[in-house]
Amino acid sequence: MAIPVMKPLLGEAEAAAVAEAVRSGWVAQGPRVAAFEKAFAERVGAGHGVAVSSCTTGLHLCLHLLGVGPGDDVVVPSLSFIASANAVRYCGANPVFADVDPVTGNLTAETVKAALTERTKAVMVVHQAGVPADIPAIRAVAGEVPVVEDAACAAGSTLHGRPVGSGALLAAWSFHPRKLITTGEGGMVTTDDAEWATRLRRLREHGMSVSAADRHASGGAVVESYVETAFNYRMTDVQAAMGLVQLDRLDGIVKQRRELAASYHDLLAPHGLSAVTDPAHGTTNFQSFWVMLPESAPGLPEVLAALAARGVSARRGIMAAHLEPAYEGHPHGPLAVTERIALRSVILPLHHELTDDDQRLVVSALVEAVGG
Ligand SMILES: *Cc1c(COP(=O)(O)O)cnc(C)c1O
Repeated sequence: MAIPVMKPLLGEAEAAAVAEAVRSGWVAQGPRVAAFEKAFAERVGAGHGVAVSSCTTGLHLCLHLLGVGPGDDVVVPSLSFIASANAVRYCGANPVFADVDPVTGNLTAETVKAALTERTKAVMVVHQAGVPADIPAIRAVAGEVPVVEDAACAAGSTLHGRPVGSGALLAAWSFHPRKLITTGEGGMVTTDDAEWATRLRRLREHGMSVSAADRHASGGAVVESYVETAFNYRMTDVQAAMGLVQLDRLDGIVKQRRELAASYHDLLAPHGLSAVTDPAHGTTNFQSFWVMLPESAPGLPEVLAALAARGVSARRGIMAAHLEPAYEGHPHGPLAVTERIALRSVILPLHHELTDDDQRLVVSALVEAVGG
């Protein structure tokens, strides 16, 4: 049995909450979604939460809300899950790839500044693998250009002593099982702006003037109208029921992941291997634990194969969109740091059932694989 790279923490409480939602007879977007929105927004320090079907659809809604369209540029890291750049393309706009910091893997004020153009309509900053990006510094160089935060991986991370999401113009979150808390599929947009939240609720639900839940609650006497062309990006109450239980687990999950990451750091240090860590401006939830391969190490495929042979299910590091066929021929400037991280890093197993022995085995297999 291989050591998996990630494992969602799901228990009887989630099963019971889902069963209760089913028994209630209300399975579409309803009271549980509303409760999850409120609880999640509170936890990340935002005024409003708008639940959606995924982080990807949440990012699309954020850009659509800001009026991003054909002819516009949006600055985005190539070093991210491909959904970040794809959301820009959904709007018919042009992703402008900016390079990242070698230690955090995130956009910085300098790399964003270098990528701004006269056509820049928005900047999308990713808190990559849970490591907080320095949003205030980036907003300072972006000026009037709005900054959208791809916080897919960042629930439970902190920035300048506050939760990531606190003070964000717009932040999009993911509840895919590869993240710290899950609803199967699912996402959330958070913002402090009440008018934006209202428009986002309409945009996720076909542009309806009255939500289906409110119309039902009113006894069906209200006739809705469709005030703009929009989307069906709703979350279900079955998912939200799970989300509410998962949210209660978040602090414990973060604490345990940080302890496991500290053990990895202790085991890796004697071998001179450098791994993701807290930046000066915040703390990470260690959504992914990535390690840079030394110069002398074999190629990434060989390293992953060697780890697999020892029963360790590692992954290539964070991907780079511009290296994928979908972005072939897409113009971009030099992305040296992005390419180094994408091609020369590995993600090690990190989940709640990982034992001391597992961690020792993972590190010994890695040290052997890199030829140390
Ligand atoms: C996982 C992830 C997404 C996509 O989230 P979904 O909820 O699966 O749509 C977007 N951006 C980043 C950085 C991610 O890690």
